[in-house]
Order: sequence, then C-alpha cells, then structure tokens
Amino acid sequence: MTDLYAVIGNPIGHSKSPMIHMAFAQQTGQDIQYIPVEAPVGGFAAEVEELRSRGGRGLNITAPFKLDAYACATELTERARQAGAANCLSFEGDRVVAENFDGVGLARDIETNLSCPMRGRRILLLGVGGAARGAIPAFLERAPAELVVANRTAEKAHTLGKQFSCLGNLVATGFDALHEGHAGRFDLVVNATSASLHGELPPVRAALLADAALAYELAYGKGLTPFLRLAREAGVQRLADGVGMLVEQAAEAFAWWRGVRPDTRAVIERLTVPLV
Ligand code: NDP
Repeated sequence: MTDLYAVIGNPIGHSKSPMIHMAFAQQTGQDIQYIPVEAPVGGFAAEVEELRSRGGRGLNITAPFKLDAYACATELTERARQAGAANCLSFEGDRVVAENFDGVGLARDIETNLSCPMRGRRILLLGVGGAARGAIPAFLERAPAELVVANRTAEKAHTLGKQFSCLGNLVATGFDALHEGHAGRFDLVVNATSASLHGELPPVRAALLADAALAYELAYGKGLTPFLRLAREAGVQRLADGVGMLVEQAAEAFAWWRGVRPDTRAVIERLTVPLV
C-alpha cells in the first residue's frame, strides 16, 4: 500500500520537499506519495486532522507552522524540545511525535558534505530564530572550542544563551558587543538570520569574517546573498548556501519515517544554484 506524507506551509508552492522525498523514495524503492499542503494561518490543526483521516504517516513543516507543529504533538523528541519547534511529525496510531531535524541537517552538511569539522573550531552563528535554535545544540554536541551567537535583538540572544549554556562553551551577545575584539577570530561563520530573504545584510563587518574557512548562508537558491558577498570580499575560502541543509534534514526525516537512509549527493547537485 502507498503511504501518504506531506509538507505543510504558507506559501508552499516554492517547496522542494516533494521533489526531494520522491527522489529518495525512487532511490530506496519505498512506496510513498508525498504532497504539498498550503494551510491558512490558524488552520494548521485542521489540516493535520485531514491528513491523518486520509491515513497520512508523516508531515514536514515549514514557515510559519513550526510552533503549531510543536504545540499539536503528543510526544516530543529531545531535539524538538530543545528547539521549542518541530519541522517533522510522525503519526503513529493516536500518537503524534514531533522532531526537529534542522540542526542535525545543517551540521551534517557542514561537516560531511563541506568537510568542515566543528570540533575545536571557533564558530559564529548569526540569528536566534527557529533555525538557529535547532542549530545550537547540534553545534555544541560537536564540541567546538567556542560558539558565539549574535542577534539583532540582544535580549533574545541573552535569554537563549542562558537556556543553552549548560550544553557547552556558548557566548550569546548583541551585534554591537560582537565587534569588539572578535576580528578574524572565527573558523566558521553561519548566517541563520532571515535578512537575506529581504536582500539585507545582517550588521556584521568584513573583519569579523576574515580568515574563516567557511561562510554558510542558511537561505538557499538565492545565489550570492549580501552576506555571502561580504564573506567573499573578506577573503573567506569557501561559501555555501542552505541547499545541503535542506536536503540533509529531509534525509533525516525520510530515515526516521521509513527506516532507510537515502544518499543525498545527487539530490543536492540537482538543486544547487551557482553562487554568483
Ligand atoms: P526566524 O523568523 O525564526 O528568525 C529570524 C532571525 O533573523 C531572528 O534572529 C532575527 O532577529 C533575524 N533577522 C531578521 N532580519 C534581520 C536583519 N535585517 N538583520 C539582522 N538580523 C535579522 O527565521 P528562521 O530561523 O525560520 O529562518 C532563518 C533563515 O534560515 C531564513 O533565511 C530561512 O530561509 C533559513 N532556513 C533554511 C533552512 C534550510 O533547510 N536551508 C531551514 C530553515 C530556515 P531579531 O530576533 O532581532 O528579529
């Protein structure tokens, strides 16, 4: 019997998830159907019920419903609990289990696909939104020498710093304090702000990025964003956008649902947009 899965968001027309999951299914011989669902804001729970009544087995969640997905779960994995948001649900009888694969997908892309190990490195993470909250535990688990998290609204960074400081060497700050004495300090700089979605640059200076081995932009498919352009001008050796993260988090979801891990390389290549 064909098992039904979906991705939900608003808007959803841009989503690459159906193509990614169907490519995984073909590659691994899994019999699934995977559909996009656009829900009105406030209409998440009703769409989940509709999907479950049709025998749906799982759901990927994109903006703006990751908090709704978290709220509707009957069980949370540790990663979902830490992130305070879910990007994946599994429907198992009456149980609705919430997961969050954003952080592990990002970390896997950086370490495995881009060959940039985090252990012992100094990492700067910009932003403390949903994606960053998933990334912080995944980064700290890899034992960097230091993880500095900076946010436009400093207060949010401080709150988050208190929540996660027990997991490792974490410094949380506003952007102003960040520029004092941090020039050339970081091996890896990750932009998890949504500034690029509006063609904006988070308030960082080139000197902060100088000497980094990798600048990583979570937004994908946008070519050279203002952040990546700044990184290139600062002489950063390698630039990447979030297409690998997108495919890796999908692979984690697929493996969780189906018990088989797909190969991600060909799918990443298919979706990659040159950074020009
Ligand atoms: P959120 O809305 O949850 O968080 C937005 C963050 O960006 C906040 O920290 C906010 O700061 C900051 N911000 C927004 N605009 C600016 C600006 N102009 N200058 C500086 N900081 C700014 O977004 P998400 O965490 O969901 O998404 C963040 C990015 O990650 C997006 O680009 C998204 O597309 C991408 N993403 C990629 C994924 C992938 O698979 N590749 C998966 C998930 C997200 P403040 O708190 O001050 O408002």
